[in-house]
Amino acid sequence: MAEVRLVDVSKTFGDVRAVADMNLTIANEEFLVLVGPSGCGKTTTLRMIAGLEKASSGDIYIGDRRINDVAPRHRDVAVVFQNYALYPHMSIYDNMAYGLKRRKFAAAAIDERVREAAEILGITNLLERRPDQLSGGQQQRVALGRAIVRHPAAFLFDEPLSALDAKLRVQMRAELSKLHDDLQSTMIYVTHDQVEAMTMGDRIVVMLDGRIQQVGTPDEVYHQPANLFVAGFVGSPPMNFSRGELEAAEGRVWFTSQDLRLPLLPEQTAAVERFIGDDLVLGIRPEDIHAEEVRGSEQFVRVPMKVEVIEPLGFETHVVLTTGHESFVARFSPRVEVHTGMEQEVMVDMARIHLFAGADEHNLLVGNGTG
Ligand code: ATP
Repeated sequence: MAEVRLVDVSKTFGDVRAVADMNLTIANEEFLVLVGPSGCGKTTTLRMIAGLEKASSGDIYIGDRRINDVAPRHRDVAVVFQNYALYPHMSIYDNMAYGLKRRKFAAAAIDERVREAAEILGITNLLERRPDQLSGGQQQRVALGRAIVRHPAAFLFDEPLSALDAKLRVQMRAELSKLHDDLQSTMIYVTHDQVEAMTMGDRIVVMLDGRIQQVGTPDEVYHQPANLFVAGFVGSPPMNFSRGELEAAEGRVWFTSQDLRLPLLPEQTAAVERFIGDDLVLGIRPEDIHAEEVRGSEQFVRVPMKVEVIEPLGFETHVVLTTGHESFVARFSPRVEVHTGMEQEVMVDMARIHLFAGADEHNLLVGNGTG
């Protein structure tokens, strides 16, 4: 049982509050991803769990055991870093066996574990080589192997793929997900890459300035972002934002900005009523701006725009459109014919909009846009 639990955990370095009042439970066998921009405190969180950094306050548990004062090597966690730091003069076999030897495992047990891990990772044929005879991806696998042989209660990953090229990263992402399925271990994974977070995590923790902004499944974080920061951080191209206000007129509630005037759907009114007259931010995902007629159209509002920039990706086209003062990115099917400078009427899916208001810019229409 390797549930990992952080209770009111904070970490300060001098004046810097790297992690603030963190409460988080990582379930047994869960793959949890900590994601956020540089400096948000994700690495510090991981290092506190590993024991490489001491929490300034709060409690950290693995299972029922409070581990704040337990030495790193007795925490039963294995860390895989970005720079895999293999011992250059040792064979791959010895690199993987090293930690077990230091822990005085019997030779037969070491051999069994090294070969089992090598089998899982598909590197059995590399065991006699030295690290400089391996590719970057193979070296990363050896680093994983060193962690696997320990049979830890939890794996901690600190940006393990960021040194690899883009193609290999995609491949290793899938391999790590499979490894998680095979080993059924608790895994905590730090990355600044929201695509890695979305594709790998059972749940994602989005952090900013040492604080958790949202914890949820990839689906929840994408479709029900808790606040403006999460909405802008997750998704590529990012969500479009328009600053404006809400106005009640003609028996409806309208979002109005410099260029837009969009009627909210009747079922959205209750959630936003007390913000009428306030400044707020409208969010629309690029895939919710359509070029073509969509059936079941009461929820769609037509908006005239003009095409500014076209980025064809083959499988889809990203189109930057302007309403005059405001710009919006849309994801169009490659079948849609567009050219720069043309007028393009788009259909905005009002059922999938988001509205952010208040000092913490929280999402008023949470629950919208799912399904
Ligand atoms: P990155 O992706 O850049 O590694 P991160 O989200 O992992 O960022 P942390 O490394 O956890 O962020 O750092 C959080 C904050 O704590 C930052 O402001 C950082 O400068 C600060 N910090 C981290 N380690 C130390 C340290 N040893 N001494 C002083 N400040 C530190």
